[in-house]
Amino acid sequence: MVRVTDHGGGVWSIPVPIPDNPLGHTLVHLLDTDRGPVLIDTGWDDPDSYAALEAGLVEAGTSVAEVHGVLITHHHPDHHGLSAQVREVSGAWIAMHEADADVVRRTRSAEPARWMSFMTAKLIAAGAPEEHLAPLRAARAAGRPTTLPGLRPALPDRDIEPGELVDLSGRRLRAIWTPGHTPGHVCLFLEESRRLFSGDHLLPGISPHIGLYEDPDDEVETDPLGDYLASLERIGRLNPDEVLPAHQYAFKDAAGRVRELLDHHEERLAGLAALISDAPRTPWQLAEVMEWNRPWEQIPFGSRNIAVSEAEAHLRRLVKAGRAEAVPGSDPVTYQAV
Ligand SMILES: [Zn+2]
Ligand SMILES: [Zn+2]
Repeated sequence: MVRVTDHGGGVWSIPVPIPDNPLGHTLVHLLDTDRGPVLIDTGWDDPDSYAALEAGLVEAGTSVAEVHGVLITHHHPDHHGLSAQVREVSGAWIAMHEADADVVRRTRSAEPARWMSFMTAKLIAAGAPEEHLAPLRAARAAGRPTTLPGLRPALPDRDIEPGELVDLSGRRLRAIWTPGHTPGHVCLFLEESRRLFSGDHLLPGISPHIGLYEDPDDEVETDPLGDYLASLERIGRLNPDEVLPAHQYAFKDAAGRVRELLDHHEERLAGLAALISDAPRTPWQLAEVMEWNRPWEQIPFGSRNIAVSEAEAHLRRLVKAGRAEAVPGSDPVTYQAV
């Protein structure tokens, strides 16, 4: 028995489990339209997760085969993982913002060796110590296949156009581009009931991971945290009546939650600026002294990469805001407060 929630007005949420993950589940939303049910996200690609989605749809009075379309808030595997299977069973279209569709395209064609060289080079540039790099080098030398996140994600059939109404019969659902967590993250605003499907952009009790957009082909220097803060303000101004996020639970005070998150990041930025005002630090050294949910020594290998990417995103924001600068001639680059 799946705990499906009927939110009224032809909107349901179905919790789809994410195996071995503290987040627990993705809330897949079902929106009734005149042409049939449309899903917002699909969930993790795993047989148990698919079974939960299947059972949830039946409980909501429909089935996977009847799904008419799939809207994806962002490309992460806990949101887009089951899209291929849903499309196969139902013939539904899949829509996504083009910036995340680009990520999907690259992931599908990524060569593990090239990806690993890119990651290693990035970690060296961030000041990672040899003992962190050694396992990566060893894996590469041994030609061991690496696990890339979401190995064969589905290519979308349609773009979600920012600012436009999604083409849905009998519904006014507006796409709001909210880059930051990923470059092509979108929130979807149901105008008739002023409800916002917020994906991972706005969650009631956790702050989404903001790192750098990892892309070996990216030549422009992006500012994901800057993007995220601007996207948060956009949602604050929209001021929806209710937020239906992709994790945790639905909540009402969107503007209040936006303010909390803006304050949280400003505090974090100020804290980091203080940490580099006494001594210049590499992103790695900064990550070691930043506050995490546990001491640095207890953070596992893979999560350290995520932590460093978060430190880099904050440094980049400080640099763009003129509050920090790279120390000229430092290698790996260290940063100091201005
Ligand atoms: Zn995500
Ligand atoms: Zn997520």
